[in-house]
Amino acid sequence: PHSLGPVASDYDERRAQWLRDNPRFPAFVAPGRPRVLVVTGSSPRRCSAPDGDHLLLRAFKNKVDYCRVHDFDIFYSTAVLDAELTGFWTKLPLLRSLMLAHPETEFLWWMDSDLMLTDMLFEPPWDRYGSHNLVIPGWDAKVYGAKSWLGINAGSFIIRNCRWSLDLLDAWVRMGPRGPVREMYGKLIAETLSDRGPYEACDQSALVYLLVTERGRWGDKTFLESSYSLHGFWAGIVDRYEEMRRDPTPGPGGERWPLVTHFVGCKPCGGDDSSYDAVRCRRGMERALNFADDQILNLYGFEHESLNTTAVRRVRNDTGGPLDADDVELGRLLHPTFRAA
Ligand code: UDP
Ligand code: MN
Repeated sequence: PHSLGPVASDYDERRAQWLRDNPRFPAFVAPGRPRVLVVTGSSPRRCSAPDGDHLLLRAFKNKVDYCRVHDFDIFYSTAVLDAELTGFWTKLPLLRSLMLAHPETEFLWWMDSDLMLTDMLFEPPWDRYGSHNLVIPGWDAKVYGAKSWLGINAGSFIIRNCRWSLDLLDAWVRMGPRGPVREMYGKLIAETLSDRGPYEACDQSALVYLLVTERGRWGDKTFLESSYSLHGFWAGIVDRYEEMRRDPTPGPGGERWPLVTHFVGCKPCGGDDSSYDAVRCRRGMERALNFADDQILNLYGFEHESLNTTAVRRVRNDTGGPLDADDVELGRLLHPTFRAA
């Protein structure tokens, strides 16, 4: 079967030794604060949709903004590292390469290109994940009960840098080689899960398949997160931003509004094969981007005139002096206190 490469059986010990030898690169930048690398990417080719590359640029800017506020690192890939693992499978060899090359990174957070962060201040509750290696949006009942391939979403997940994760990636990619293998696993997955057709396997259905068929091996260390929107489906969100902004009641997970708005099925880069009305998709993306950008621009005294326009206006007086506002929250966001030494 296809493999991403050898996994040292003592990987965790070797990484621990590296961390001891390199105290300037701690895996935890402060107590309870893991070092996080956000990983995203898009095809090496230009988009076929005329506005696709512009949308990718703005979606990347959105991720960069989020990373700056939280002091996360970010990596953007436009390479397909394993010729067998094309399309949505590309994230897996990429995560593995970055994991091995960055022992200082505790968590890698994959974000699809068509995903936008829409609560710029919310940060995942790291303390809750101490004994888990994979955090993915999902529900126990939908995965293990209903065996639904929609029981998780593979567009946004957090994976720990450790041997278990390397083993998971290797088990996962066995179903990914393009052509007959991917087709064959698509059929097998369709027989095992309750709600998926026998077309080629995707990374999301393959992961549900692993969780369902090898729960003992993978289930314990996998956290199915549903207390906040680690993934949030765009269609139910994009028309409500004004309303959410007026009434920012924190949800059970502590976010004020959806952390993520994910444009599943909108194909921002892919041309006309969108599953949804393209105008609605584009309008939704514009609004998500402006909603997120407002949270950043506000730090600098500006905001959009409305969520539907690129025009901005000033919302705080320009005093000419640094941080005259004497706003503690503002200062904290502009100058994160948790930067690594
Ligand atoms: N992707 C990539 N390189 C590729 C194709 C896809 O990095 O050649 C990434 C991209 O971030 C995309 C994700 O893989 O959002 C999932 O791929 P998919 O085709 O499912 O795109 P989506 O449904 O997210 O538009
Ligand atoms: Mn996506």
